[in-house]
Amino acid sequence: MEEEKKTIREETKKRKNFFIRFKENRREEKKRKEEAKKKIALALEKDKEDKNPDPKDAYVSLHNINKVYDNGFHAVHDFTIDIKQNEFIVFVGPSGCGKSTTLRRIAGLEDITSGTLYIDHEFRNDVASKDRNIARVFQSYALYPHRSVYDNIAFPLHIRRLPKDEIDRRVMEAAKILQITPLLDRKPKALSGGQRQRVALGRAIVKHAKVLLRDEPLSNLDAKLRVQRRSEIVKLHDKLKATTVYVTHDQTEAMTRASRIVIRKDGYVQQIGTPIDIFNHPCNKFVAGFIGSPARNFFPVRYKDGRITFINGFSLTLPKELLAGKMIPEKAIFGIRPEDIFIADEYHASLYPETKVMANVILAELLGNEYYVHTDFAYQETIAKFPSDKHLSHGDKVSFCRNLAHCHLFDEKTEKAYF
Ligand code: ATP
Repeated sequence: MEEEKKTIREETKKRKNFFIRFKENRREEKKRKEEAKKKIALALEKDKEDKNPDPKDAYVSLHNINKVYDNGFHAVHDFTIDIKQNEFIVFVGPSGCGKSTTLRRIAGLEDITSGTLYIDHEFRNDVASKDRNIARVFQSYALYPHRSVYDNIAFPLHIRRLPKDEIDRRVMEAAKILQITPLLDRKPKALSGGQRQRVALGRAIVKHAKVLLRDEPLSNLDAKLRVQRRSEIVKLHDKLKATTVYVTHDQTEAMTRASRIVIRKDGYVQQIGTPIDIFNHPCNKFVAGFIGSPARNFFPVRYKDGRITFINGFSLTLPKELLAGKMIPEKAIFGIRPEDIFIADEYHASLYPETKVMANVILAELLGNEYYVHTDFAYQETIAKFPSDKHLSHGDKVSFCRNLAHCHLFDEKTEKAYF
């Protein structure tokens, strides 16, 4: 009896909690929708203010693009970019940052909440996907399992009722470019992941579209194939010359192929620039941490009169050229790349004498020609890239020094870069 009462009490409590949570979720969703409405109203105002939403030298123009889903979730905030003909634009950022959402808007698969989209100087917001002169390869390759590779690639051309010999010419041309001619008779189930990806790409390129949208992470391929596909993608772009928008969450993919990278986080663009520009001049700590592998090291520091002091009391003078004209507050974040840290041998110690410190090796990851060495500087882990000519392992003591010419300082609160 007592047992039964206890179970009933617990059940009642569970139900009560469920309803409380349900109501809370409803309240939150309502609040989100209201906030989204305000933001959309603001974005629509911006649309009106935009004097030139389709500049002459752009092939694809997205201006003030916003996407708010039906549940009030604002997935893309005020995104503007003018993409030139033949550019290879890469959207990169962590999962959920709105990369695919933006790509699907360009593809015309879902509606744009506010903002303008022009492709080849035609207003395209409400034009059906099939009429946008774009080709797309998305995460699910969506190959027809019962059709051969040839028929899969030829499919969009059959739909357009192209003459048979034109279809054959285009399929053979695509197969040659993608090096899948020997596979044309096979069915998709008899292909590897990488081969399936190529077939999906073949199906896109036979359309001879001017814009190619690709959301096909290489992460499901093995490491060797990934590297091979990376270089193939660059070569293919040079051959096809289609204006390409490519989505990935892998910064190496972005760095190796993009004309320009768009780095996103939580629906907002963080920075748009060439790979080298973003690598050397990240606009904030997030970008600095996202681009480059291994990632940059960050330390909280105190700044005063051109010097920074780490929490262990060690201090350094920053290069005057970097500080020129900057108003830096006392609290800041110092960032340095692993390749700007060197073992303090005679040569490097004489180059950067003031930066020399001793540290313990926590972990030394051998990669063949180099080590990723984790040390314990200033009560936190610091990663450095050292050559593998000298054996290093856990417990060793190393003396290292730093080249400060490429270091960064970020605002402690906003995380924006001073340099
Ligand atoms: P990934 O790298 O994981 O593919 P992503 O950057 O491409 O991520 P999106 O798919 O664009 O992310 O999603 C952006 C955000 O929008 C996510 O938080 C996602 O949960 C949300 N989202 C996507 N589709 C919907 C939908 N139909 N309704 C509500 N929210 C959605």
